[in-house]
Amino acid sequence: MTFRTRFAPSPTGPLHLGHAYSAMLAHDMAKEHDGTFILRMDDIDRERSKAEWEALAYEDLAWLGLTWPKPVLRQSRSADRFAEALQTLEKKGVLYPCSCSRADVANAASAPQEGIPTHGPDGRIYPGTCRGRPMASRLPGDALRLDMARAMDAFAHTLRFEETGEKHFGQHVLDRDNMVATIGDPIVSRKNGGIAYHLAVVVDDHGQNITHVVRGTDLFDATCIHVLLQKLLNLPTPTYHHHKLIRDETGKRLAKRDDARAIRAYREDGASPEDIRRMVGL
Ligand code: GLU
Repeated sequence: MTFRTRFAPSPTGPLHLGHAYSAMLAHDMAKEHDGTFILRMDDIDRERSKAEWEALAYEDLAWLGLTWPKPVLRQSRSADRFAEALQTLEKKGVLYPCSCSRADVANAASAPQEGIPTHGPDGRIYPGTCRGRPMASRLPGDALRLDMARAMDAFAHTLRFEETGEKHFGQHVLDRDNMVATIGDPIVSRKNGGIAYHLAVVVDDHGQNITHVVRGTDLFDATCIHVLLQKLLNLPTPTYHHHKLIRDETGKRLAKRDDARAIRAYREDGASPEDIRRMVGL
């Protein structure tokens, strides 16, 4: 199996040192394995994605010395494949329409109890208000959620994935009850009809034959959702490698609004790509 990995930034702001680390690590790993490094633009957030950020990402990554096959896939171009994936999930009876707003979710959540998580990879865990609604009752403006318990119950056999990142190294087995309690029912299609990240990433990683997903450890908890979606869609599960996050001196992880850590700012200050490598510990 040829090693294929990807770096998939969302063009919603300038790339910072954390992105540089993720992209260079994936690029290095591909080289080491005689494989391919793919760049993809995760531009499903149509409002926040901007052509200028995409252009800057190409500039920054080329400056870092990375190369990738062209043309670059923009996630917004995969609409047909996303629709097909939604249909498959719908046929399996694991989706339901949801009309709850963020405020509804917050108001319906029960008072926090010790030992019971309130937040999962997507923020506040959905309390299940709309669970069980038939798909035929979907109204314009309803989101679609994956019924986690039903979806996990669809499998008699064990679901697992392999992780090669240092922090979570090894085989991971998906645990139904834990996923219901700590993740809940994730959104797969948004209120505006747009595809949600979890489904988009699974469909595009498969479409691009990605064998190794290299990304930040902040996404480790979301991986169970991705593995479950892969199984529901009959897609192979890649190997995962979640890497450390680059933090500022106060220990806070970098965000797109941290303009001072933008790769562009270092470039303009006369830093070299080798300086960036050193700064992120590569
Ligand atoms: N576009 C996503 C991000 O920037 C990609 C996440 C992933 O690598 O799966 O967070």
